[in-house]
Amino acid sequence: MNRQLEQLIKLQQIDSKILHLSRTLMKFPARIAASEAPLRESETFLNNVKQKLASLDKKKRDKERELDDAGEKIRKLKARTSDIKTNKEYQALLKEIESVEKERSSIEDEILIVMEEIDTSSKRITAEEAKFKAEKEKIDALRKRLESEKAEVEKELLSVRETREGIAGSIDKEAYDLYVSLIGPCNGLVVTEVKGEICQGCNMNIPPQLFVEIKKNEEIITCPQCRRILFYKNNA
Ligand SMILES: [Zn+2]
Repeated sequence: MNRQLEQLIKLQQIDSKILHLSRTLMKFPARIAASEAPLRESETFLNNVKQKLASLDKKKRDKERELDDAGEKIRKLKARTSDIKTNKEYQALLKEIESVEKERSSIEDEILIVMEEIDTSSKRITAEEAKFKAEKEKIDALRKRLESEKAEVEKELLSVRETREGIAGSIDKEAYDLYVSLIGPCNGLVVTEVKGEICQGCNMNIPPQLFVEIKKNEEIITCPQCRRILFYKNNA
């Protein structure tokens, strides 16, 4: 085989590998972000429950203040008993005290309900925090694995690029320039095999006369359709 063609085949192999590794590398940020998504969901949920608990605490404090106010009101009403002159006034006062006491009792009931809700929320937070912690540990481990995988790919890419330099340096300028000029138009696949008179780059038929020449692998021949550099692999 023509030495230049042989090196071009190697260059293509290495460039395909570089392309593959670069694409793999580009996917890492998205993979890392995706691995963290469940954690963020769990975190949002936990924050919501915490917020609910805070508002319940506030509700409890408000109710307790209302309870104190009602107690104070009753105390003041009761203190007025000594000023009462008539039975009618006395009955009215008793009625008023009774009404505030009713109110106080209903506030007490409300406080009990809020306390139950606080208890439920607190238990939920404890459970969610444990779940979050376990999930975070799992995700931290996964991220570490992804990051070390990424470092491996980066290392491999460096060494492959070094190898490429050696191969590129052994190719004549004209052939190398041709190769480079075709990388874009040929979508990264510049050197390709011809199998059964068909270019594997564009799937078009190669004219029989040209195929005979390609089979010799003695010259750099390009596909009349897609311009890729062609070679023939003798499997026999
Ligand atoms: Zn072609």
